[in-house]
Amino acid sequence: MHTSSTENSTLSPTLQTHEHAWLTESAHRTSDGTVLYVRCGECGTRRVDIAAHTDMPPTAVSTTLGD
Ligand SMILES: [Zn+2]
Repeated sequence: MHTSSTENSTLSPTLQTHEHAWLTESAHRTSDGTVLYVRCGECGTRRVDIAAHTDMPPTAVSTTLGD
């Protein structure tokens, strides 16, 4: 016997898969570039970015911080 299982892709609602809305909290110029401390305005996750050159996009030097 076969129970017809409809392909129901149920995404876990507890999984936070939103696109973080990074807000720059502070920026510090170092010899390597500008260190940006950013925080997601939605979930509060913090991240540290570094912008080596002004004409280059910031690179994440850390994964998301916090527990
Ligand atoms: Zn977020």
